[in-house]
Amino acid sequence: MDTQDRVESSVKTQEIIDAEARLIVPTYTRPNRLFTHGKGIHLFDVAGNSYLDFTSGIAVTNLGHSDQQWIEAVHEQAGLLVHVSNLYHSAPHVELAHRLVENSFADRVFFCNSGSEANEAAIKFSRKLARFSTETEKKTNIVAFRGGFHGRTVGSLSITARRQYREPFAPLMPGVKFVPFNDLDAAQSAINSETCAVIVEPVQGEGGVHVAQADFMSGLREICNKNNVILVFDEVQCGMGRTGYLWAHEKYGVKPDIMTLAKPLAGGLPIGVVLVTEQVARIMQPGDHGSTFAGGPLICRAAQVVFDRICQHGFLEAVCTNGEYLQESLRGLDDKRIVEVRGAGLLVGVEFNMEVQSIISRAAEKGLIVLNAGDKVLRLCPPLTVTAQDIDIATEVISKCLSES
Ligand code: PLP
Repeated sequence: MDTQDRVESSVKTQEIIDAEARLIVPTYTRPNRLFTHGKGIHLFDVAGNSYLDFTSGIAVTNLGHSDQQWIEAVHEQAGLLVHVSNLYHSAPHVELAHRLVENSFADRVFFCNSGSEANEAAIKFSRKLARFSTETEKKTNIVAFRGGFHGRTVGSLSITARRQYREPFAPLMPGVKFVPFNDLDAAQSAINSETCAVIVEPVQGEGGVHVAQADFMSGLREICNKNNVILVFDEVQCGMGRTGYLWAHEKYGVKPDIMTLAKPLAGGLPIGVVLVTEQVARIMQPGDHGSTFAGGPLICRAAQVVFDRICQHGFLEAVCTNGEYLQESLRGLDDKRIVEVRGAGLLVGVEFNMEVQSIISRAAEKGLIVLNAGDKVLRLCPPLTVTAQDIDIATEVISKCLSES
């Protein structure tokens, strides 16, 4: 790109940023960068700069950007049928449901459009099941965990502990108790005859990349069984291959009654899914819940491509190998400000004893996009197609950023 083109691209970027400042409700702060396209693990900005994307759009684009098979399926389906509403049958959502049920604990699925919506549905399903199976109107409470994140709608926000997200919108849904993550005794004490559900992320993403301990997960299952309480796993961020297992909970050999999914399932198009056992499903009747867009033909066709690819022989093994290599490489950085490197598969957190925003900005200037998870944790969640060579480049950039600060 010559100097004239660079000036033009920087003017264009500034114009868009200025217009955004006037037009868009300011719920996000964004860096001064304007991406125009992506291919594989790379993103490109308007000035032609290339970036290694270790965010996957917050754990969404698990096959990378502009995957050819995904493009072809979306293109073909767009020319056939995009939307008919849930008032009519369509094949793609049944074909996707078939894959999800065949490959999980679940007997049935409910489609929606986002992770928050999936968790809203999980709350409603749990409450209705408790109400009709116990004939009490009091079994409506939920136990959730500190550091957990379940979404921004009023119900999903009510089960999200972080005060900063909740306070401006109080009062939220009552009857939610928060207890420390990985603390089984605290969970046990919080559950009583009025509890209808416990919701937990097997790996907390937004809360700082914290992995659930095995005895915590199996203990939760036991307590829920004893108290006739629904166990919900929120795998919106950690599900669909991210941890090297198709479902993050598989590592623990513990099954939920309900599991929520969203982010990566349709390769970047909006989707949410609630997977349930027959016991949960049979309590729901026509008219109990719904959504105009949910499970539309286009989204479900796109999701089939993602699902099939992740289930291909060797795919998840590569996620495990590359995830271990990423953690090892980051441990090798040997910087005194690093407190811990942790994670599961390709959801990795590096906790520092300082805020990480400056590292994130500096890395972007050097062509690497990474995320935070809280103030002091750097979160790396590249596409699941990442290679060892990509990991080497990313580690080198982070190393340079650290040596300069
Ligand atoms: N649950 C988890 C674990 C998440 O990480 C998120 C989003 O980051 C959500 C729920 C909310 O999903 P969405 O932003 O699609 O509503």
